[in-house]
This record gives sequence, structure tokens and C-alpha cells, in this order.
Amino acid sequence: MIARTRPDASVSAASSAYSAPLVLSAVVLEQARAFFECRGAEGCEGTAMIAAGPNGVRLVVPDQRPSRSPMGVSVHVTAQGQLELAAALGVDELFVSRIHSHPGEAFHSPIDDRNPVLTYRGALSVVVPYFGLGLRRGLLACAVLRHDGQRWCDLPPGPGRDLWVIAEDTNSGERTP
Ligand SMILES: [Zn+2]
Repeated sequence: MIARTRPDASVSAASSAYSAPLVLSAVVLEQARAFFECRGAEGCEGTAMIAAGPNGVRLVVPDQRPSRSPMGVSVHVTAQGQLELAAALGVDELFVSRIHSHPGEAFHSPIDDRNPVLTYRGALSVVVPYFGLGLRRGLLACAVLRHDGQRWCDLPPGPGRDLWVIAEDTNSGERTP
């Protein structure tokens, strides 16, 4: 594993929960894909949170209600879901990213920008295209944004994104053809 230097020395709430970059495990990405595709089979978006702590990352799926209208599809976390999120974190755990699916392209809508669930500097947001199917191509197919304390900033695939978040390399240690 290549040691990386955190590009921003500021101490945020998130940085105490993990060392940048955040490594999204194959398990978490697979759970998210499966959940979003399941919702997508009914034409619905899905949303979830990623918690990070001493034992790594995990997906937390709160109670939620999708809606469909001529204006499009959306999903919101119910009051019960908000309680579930409030109770979900263990000792030294923190929600480090939101992850949700879109019917089509992956981007942050104005509604996504206004979502209050994560707004601290360093928080991440992953948007999965095509009702979750995009995750079959991994994080590269997704939009990833990072909150700078004021607004959400797009992190296009590449070195600038890899400083903050990467997918677990599941090929390491396996035979190469
Ligand atoms: Zn969205």
C-alpha cells in the first residue's frame, strides 16, 4: 500500500475517523449496489450513509420513502430513518459519506446540494448512476463530491479524487493472467 499524505492538514471531524483517503471496501460498495439495484427494479432511488470508524467502513441504510412524479423521482429519509441514523453510530464512528442513486446520470442536483444530512468540511457524497447499475463499473462511474465547509465540490475521477476516496483494490494478491 502506498502511503499518502493528507493534502489538507486541517483537522475536521471526519479526519479523526479515518486517514485520507477514505477506502470504500468492496463489501460496502457491493451492499450499496445491491440495495440501489433492488430499489431501481421498482423505479425508485435509494439513499444510504457510510460510517467510518476504527473497524473500517460500513453501510447504513435508514428507513426511507421514495416518490415518483412527473417531475422525476426522489427519495427522502423518514423520521424513523433519521432516528435510526442518530442511533447507528458506534464509539468513534462518524458518517463520512452519503451515497444515493439516480435514475440516469450521476450528479448533484440542487436538492442534493441542500440536503442537510452531511455538511461539514471533508464530508463526501457519492451519486450512483442508473439506479445503482453504475456501481458495477465501480466508483469511476459515480459522481463524488466533497464538502469544503461552504459548498459541495465535484471530484472528477483521477488523482484529485484519489486523495480523498478510493475503492478497495480487490485484485491485489490475486493471480494475474
Ligand atoms: Zn440526487
